[in-house]
Amino acid sequence: MNPPNRRVLLVDDDPALRRILSHWLRGADFDVREAGNGMEALAAIEADCPDFLITDWEMPVVDGPELCRRVRASNLPKYVYILFLTIRSAPAEMITGLEIGADDYLGKPILQGELLARMRAAGRIVALERRLSEMARTDPLTRLWTQRTFYEVLEKEWERVSRSGAPLSCAMIDLDFFKRVNDMHGHPVGDAVLKTITEILLRNCRASDTICRYGGEEFCALLPDTTEEAAVAWAERLRASLSGTVIRGGGTELRVTASFGVAQRRDDTQTSAGLVDQADQALLCAKQSGRDRVVSFELLNSARQIDLDESDQHGIFRGITARHVMSPMVVGLHEDETVGQAAEFFLRSRINSTPVVNREGKLVGILSEKDLLATMVSFDSWESPVRDVMKPNVICYDEDTPIRVVYEFLCRVSIRRVVIVADGCPVGTISRGTLLRWFRNLVLSKGLVETTSTPEPHDEKDPHRSKDRLAETAETIAGLARELQRRLREDPRDLVPFVVGGATRMQELVTDLLAFSRYANDAGQTGAAAIRSMHLTGGHTD
Ligand code: GH3
Ligand code: MG
Ligand code: MG
Ligand code: MG
Repeated sequence: MNPPNRRVLLVDDDPALRRILSHWLRGADFDVREAGNGMEALAAIEADCPDFLITDWEMPVVDGPELCRRVRASNLPKYVYILFLTIRSAPAEMITGLEIGADDYLGKPILQGELLARMRAAGRIVALERRLSEMARTDPLTRLWTQRTFYEVLEKEWERVSRSGAPLSCAMIDLDFFKRVNDMHGHPVGDAVLKTITEILLRNCRASDTICRYGGEEFCALLPDTTEEAAVAWAERLRASLSGTVIRGGGTELRVTASFGVAQRRDDTQTSAGLVDQADQALLCAKQSGRDRVVSFELLNSARQIDLDESDQHGIFRGITARHVMSPMVVGLHEDETVGQAAEFFLRSRINSTPVVNREGKLVGILSEKDLLATMVSFDSWESPVRDVMKPNVICYDEDTPIRVVYEFLCRVSIRRVVIVADGCPVGTISRGTLLRWFRNLVLSKGLVETTSTPEPHDEKDPHRSKDRLAETAETIAGLARELQRRLREDPRDLVPFVVGGATRMQELVTDLLAFSRYANDAGQTGAAAIRSMHLTGGHTD
């Protein structure tokens, strides 16, 4: 085999000159191919990219300068070092050549010693360039591709499948509780574990798959010609293989599990980055629902799959959307608010997590008591913005999503609550508790069982309540009542579920209203904290 980086394409319309130069170059251990003009050269480069291009200036069909320009303009797999041959008496050619992208030039008549000396210098440059690009393309610890290389490959695959329509799937893999491995066994053991896991990943991949180290303990796999179903099966095998492997390192034995998010490119996946993002969303869900599991984007996306009125002809969910069931949200946290303000918020309300919005009121994240607790390692964090401590990925559904979709999601995963949005703005939440309450009330209202519901007592004294807030709550109740009234007048369908949903929400608000009214005359109690105490409408800590 030829040594690496020694491949030369020699382009000249003079066969005699080509013969001599080839002879000299081969004698110096170069692997030489020849072309008679620029056109032939372009075809040869396309078929098999050389390391060096030595080209004549004047040639028929496509000349040296044009060849040089086209090579520089094309997206070749590696940098091609260009050396052009020029007449010694034509310095203008030399300047033009260098300006259009050549690396060096050689004046005719060509001397063997000079050619080989220039090629040795060129070889040093090429070797350096190859080392640099290798460093940028591969991760030094695992030898896997870097994220950057991954996106290059993804771009090409994306173009290919956009033409062919072949399936393409992506899997995001994140090791579970990896920080603990470092904390308990030290960083070197953590590194060794990452290497072992890389071996397991590679053992389970096909040659056509591309796997990269996406970030610290995150990996991403691109699986061409693979449907989401097959990708899930692959990920499931890999997951089982990982969790069943005892890794030895640093004198200890340990087990590491991973969470997987899988997505397949579909007709409405707009961009290649969108595909990765979908896998990432599924991964988030896998994490939130317990780790050491595989979640497919399909699961999150099932809203589009279910035609409610067809699949649920006689079911209780028929015609009901998230909007009808959700606990409406009066206010959430703002991303600019501080950890201190957020702590105040959680202390005053009965909820344990809340959506976070930006200036435009759009949903940007979710913050839980747990996230907040985790930041309280220093006094400085008290002043940090919520933006820095919230989780930026939230499982949310549009308010028009059939409730059956939300129901199925909450049944399958251990996430307890989803956020409901309208035009990207959070308008409510649905928790398992919300669904249970809705169902219970439905049963009661249909007269299936005889029970009375007891409203929760609100006897603790909270000074942060004001008439304003009460008025706001009353207004919300009035709005709900009007909506219900309208539906009862106009909608010919079975309205019991709507009445139950609407009445439940009103009931919750009335409960709050009654509880808060005792303190309505306390002076000076306004502001965000008070409005937030209303946010708990139906938001029992569940
Ligand atoms: P989760 O299940 O939520 O993913 O928990 P986690 O601990 O894996 O996630 P987190 O993002 O909190 O921490 C990732 C850890 O991965 C933090 C860092 O110490 C470790 N890590 C990242 N890169 C390397 C590396 O190159 N070597 C070692 N030893 N550890 C790394
Ligand atoms: Mg010529
Ligand atoms: Mg991670
Ligand atoms: Mg992790």
